[in-house]
Amino acid sequence: MAKHQFQTEIGQLLKLMTHSLYSNKEIFIRELVSNASDALDKFNYLSLTDEKFKKDEWSGKVFIKLDKEDNSLTIGDNGIGMNETDLMDHLGTIAKSGTKAFMENLTGDAKKDSNLIGQFGVGFYSVFMVADKVDVISKKAGEEQAYMFSTDGTGEYEVKPVTKEAHGTIIYIKLKEDEKEFLDKWRVQEVVKKYSNHIAYPIMLNYSEEETEGEGDEATTKMVHKSEQINAATALWTLPKSDLKKEDYVEFYKTLAHGDNEPLSYLHNRVEGANEFTTLFYIPKTAPMDMYRADYEAGVKLYVKRVFITDDNKELLPPYLRFVKGIIDSEDLPLNVSRELLQENRILANIKQNSTKKILQAIKKLSGEEADTFIGQYNRVMKEGIYTDHVNKELLLDIVKYKSSTEEGLVSFEEYVSRGDSEKKEIYYIVGDDEKVLRNSPLLEAYKKANIEVLIMDDKEVDSIVTPMIGSYKEWNLKDITTIEAPDSKTEEEKEEISKEFKSLTDKIKEVLGEEVKEVKTSTRLTSSPSCVLKDSSDPMASMAAMFAQMGQ
Ligand code: ADP
Ligand code: MG
Repeated sequence: MAKHQFQTEIGQLLKLMTHSLYSNKEIFIRELVSNASDALDKFNYLSLTDEKFKKDEWSGKVFIKLDKEDNSLTIGDNGIGMNETDLMDHLGTIAKSGTKAFMENLTGDAKKDSNLIGQFGVGFYSVFMVADKVDVISKKAGEEQAYMFSTDGTGEYEVKPVTKEAHGTIIYIKLKEDEKEFLDKWRVQEVVKKYSNHIAYPIMLNYSEEETEGEGDEATTKMVHKSEQINAATALWTLPKSDLKKEDYVEFYKTLAHGDNEPLSYLHNRVEGANEFTTLFYIPKTAPMDMYRADYEAGVKLYVKRVFITDDNKELLPPYLRFVKGIIDSEDLPLNVSRELLQENRILANIKQNSTKKILQAIKKLSGEEADTFIGQYNRVMKEGIYTDHVNKELLLDIVKYKSSTEEGLVSFEEYVSRGDSEKKEIYYIVGDDEKVLRNSPLLEAYKKANIEVLIMDDKEVDSIVTPMIGSYKEWNLKDITTIEAPDSKTEEEKEEISKEFKSLTDKIKEVLGEEVKEVKTSTRLTSSPSCVLKDSSDPMASMAAMFAQMGQ
């Protein structure tokens, strides 16, 4: 019998689970059911692709057993299972950067924080919110020996060989004294419905109930064991749209996103023809925590004919749509498509193209508060899209928004153009990192005076790279006002005149500033400021691509 220490971070995490995150304990069921479902997906795949596992009839199931006498809840599955190393690697250590990121993102609000548990891949440990002791008994498919991993969630765990007939995992949870609510059939059923109704496998609830037979003095009561399926167990995306209501989509989103929030929007499409596939995509109301991390997790799962293939392929959608959650289910890909082949697969490329367009069209259609929420969360990644996705540039240009020198809030190019000078067809903008400084820029003065709108682009890191690439929007050319002559009413001769008049002064200034500047000249563009610094329009854009390179684009 071997005792082991938990990795330090897990020690911290366990403390947190038991002492801080107690207000939303029910989610441990969601997390354990989700793990069972993942394990069933993995075995399902093997049983369809690997000769070794093809022979026996198998149908995946999750079971939950409530034992009031023993004060325990057990969750089991007949999935892929874990061997000794798996138990230690997956439950005794956290391989991913998950824990640290999780801890850093904690807000102190227990409800919000418990929504983070699933997002950061630390789901298993949520069991310690309710458990005094946990035994994980598991046998890996194709192996002989089963093992038991036991811990009371303090600093140590133990792994020892045990006997178990079939492959799969059983998690026995000895509940804390005051967690009896999770022995109640209705309570457990409610939690499963809320978060796990649409996992693709049946969840069987096993419990005992007193039953009375006969009447009056003849009546006898006895304990009866019961077993019933408590979830819908359908792959929701395979159902026809006409059979589904908004609630169904929201429920499925909760299963998918390990959370309790509603999505901002969803889109469900079935494409038929030469290439057949179904997609169900969700746009979260708040951007995933890891959206700007280089090691962000993919949000889309790939299925082939309803068999789960992968959930960590970042090629399924373009990187700038990495906040989208959902499912792609292809009818045409071979089941045993290899990861390398996925990269260059034409069927997938087609699905990706189609999906990207559909998602952008759906985003474009958002209006009112939803559109505002979207822009608040995702304006920046949409700009990334403009930089990287030339095919969909037009759609993206209809989505992004900017601050404006003449309007409140944010404006789109479309709005700008509707108000602009349709003879000249120019869109003016200025880029910098401080909105206030930009708004007070001397360069804006002439535009203000002439009542011409200028877009205030204060996300310099992104705008300085992306905007020059845009070129034009519907034949309207974008003009950086720091590189062009300002609007004014003076003729060329008058300007010439002024320039001559002040030549000795500008020469003098150039002499003093020397190499610091390229040229000093008079200007008619300023109204109240004496001077301003201009960029040379032939100056190559600095810092190109630094940020996009980080995101792997
Ligand atoms: P995540 O599910 O995000 O990977 P968890 O903390 O929920 O994180 O689970 C950690 C890992 O433990 C899983 O990735 C999986 O490898 C393993 N695991 C947990 N439960 C099971 C199970 N029922 N069957 C097989 N493996 C499991
Ligand atoms: Mg999990």
